Amino acid sequence: MLLQGKVAVVTGGTRGIGFAVVEAFVKNGASVALFGSRQETVDKALSKLRETAPDAPVIGLSPDLTDYAAVEAALGEVKARFGRIDILVNNAGISAREPLYQYDPAAFENIMNINVKAVFNGCRAVAPIMKEQGGGCIINTSSMVSLYGQPSGVGYPTSKFAVNGLTRSLARELGRDNIRVNAVAPGVTRTDMVAALPKEMIARVVAPIPLGRVGEPEEVANCFLFLASDLASYVTGEVLSVDGAAQT
Ligand code: NAD
Repeated sequence: MLLQGKVAVVTGGTRGIGFAVVEAFVKNGASVALFGSRQETVDKALSKLRETAPDAPVIGLSPDLTDYAAVEAALGEVKARFGRIDILVNNAGISAREPLYQYDPAAFENIMNINVKAVFNGCRAVAPIMKEQGGGCIINTSSMVSLYGQPSGVGYPTSKFAVNGLTRSLARELGRDNIRVNAVAPGVTRTDMVAALPKEMIARVVAPIPLGRVGEPEEVANCFLFLASDLASYVTGEVLSVDGAAQT
């Protein structure tokens, strides 16, 4: 029970990596608010959770993460319900693969809004709450492509490089307030995002991975659990790769 008595918010918590993080946090004693893009998918995720953890202290909200006022209001609701917020996981994200020559500038703006602005909004809104209660911990979902880019779909790696910069900078800025800020950089992980890729592309991506396979959402979630827990009490400003050494 690494998170007994802690309160966590997980954006993009309805499926994939975010849902696995919610499950790991609940199993370890946390109260959790999961955020999703639509209330319908949020409610579905809550029902799925209750199949294995019927009494889990879990709520679900669907604020527009790109709207600062909406994020602030949703975090206020979580605080009103659970009394505090110890952990914020900024995990919601979208990917893109369009070559530059076909890249719609509006799509670039959209990916930056969801993958970067929404992360800023979460950090901006939660930091005063954490400061007031004596500390807390923020974990952002980055990606292995934040370390070396990708050959097509430039908006996605650009957004994740920004997530790393935001993570490292806020770790420096918020350390004095006892707020740790880290990121997890997953490699290819078995989620809907990856299932949507053509099979040949997955095979090409897996071939050079030293561990010879894609990662499971639970394996990635365990790293969020470590960073959220007191086991990582002296870890901040870190981008933790969880990718089977894919980037080497
Ligand atoms: P997924 O598509 O399965 O889940 C994405 C989540 O983000 C969902 O819960 C969805 O509701 C939420 N989301 C998407 N757009 C949103 C919006 N506009 N507003 C609110 N919520 C929104 O994806 P996943 O693979 O679990 O990815 C989760 C995170 O992990 C993302 O940040 C992604 O970039 C990152 N990541 C994934 C992989 C991978 O291989 N799956 C690898 C590296 C990084």
